[in-house]
Amino acid sequence: MNAPARALHDTPRSDWTHAEIAALFALPFPELMFRAATVHRAHFDPTQVQISTLISIKTGGCPEDCSYCTQSVSNPTGLKATKLMQVEQVLAEARAAREAGASRFCMGAAWRNPKDKDLDAVCAMVEGVKALGMESCVTLGMLTGPQAVRLKQAGLDYYNHNLDTSPEYYRHVITTRSYQDRLDTLEHVREAGIAVCCGGIVGMGESEQDRIGLIHALATLPVHPESVPINALVGEDTRAVESSEKLDPLDFVRTIAVARIAMPKSMVRLSAGRQEMSEETQALCFLAGANSIFYGPKLLTTPNPLADSDRLLFRKLGLTPMALPCES
Ligand code: SF4
Repeated sequence: MNAPARALHDTPRSDWTHAEIAALFALPFPELMFRAATVHRAHFDPTQVQISTLISIKTGGCPEDCSYCTQSVSNPTGLKATKLMQVEQVLAEARAAREAGASRFCMGAAWRNPKDKDLDAVCAMVEGVKALGMESCVTLGMLTGPQAVRLKQAGLDYYNHNLDTSPEYYRHVITTRSYQDRLDTLEHVREAGIAVCCGGIVGMGESEQDRIGLIHALATLPVHPESVPINALVGEDTRAVESSEKLDPLDFVRTIAVARIAMPKSMVRLSAGRQEMSEETQALCFLAGANSIFYGPKLLTTPNPLADSDRLLFRKLGLTPMALPCES
């Protein structure tokens, strides 16, 4: 068996120590990039990038106090709260996303947790997205075990619920739910047999220790998340933006590279903040092992590069979108 084939059969480690993750962050940049790119090649075709589209199916008015989020009522951004979108309207967006090359359609609702009656409509959306041959993902806040089972029965592939930051820095970011609440939701999702999308946000004023803590928390979950979105803080008028200095792009690339090494089989996604990144920074992120992006003009309420500029960047870098699940 050659090295890449052998690597595919290895079970990823969930016993990373904090010191091991810290040692990866401390590597000289060229060495870190080399190791991350080597791990990436052992598990994936490095020229292929999975494309997801994310829409907000219920915007604003969220009672949680996430300091980075424009949808929180505790961030006075003037964002108008909306009702849950109609199922047909959501499916029209899914069809358009599919035509633009997206293989996964993600739907986000700004809730602390969904009410059981809201789940009827969300389950119909999931069924409709699946009927289009796309993967489905939702992010609805905290879930109970029975709610996770209901979503699984509707055919849901992925549930997004981020850890956001390190356990130590968490209280500076959100106070209305605990780290353990998040871990509990992730456990309900896993137990229901839904794949996990879970990552965090960097650039919220956290230290490198906290970025180490975030990757350590993700990489020591009992099973690694199948998708690991790494976001760079954006969003005008939020408390987090007002109190944080801009993150050095190379620190962002380092975080991507360490995530790739620590979670070798996960899809590492360049998420919020791409709009403000240069092409060079994005290219470094792909070299560091990022292999998934969001496509489309908006991520919930945050601007995102237009599909045309993404196509141009893909052409320049020789990258191609991964096939739809029904085509692979
Ligand atoms: S991140 Fe989610 S839970 Fe937090 S305020 Fe925004 S919509 Fe609500």
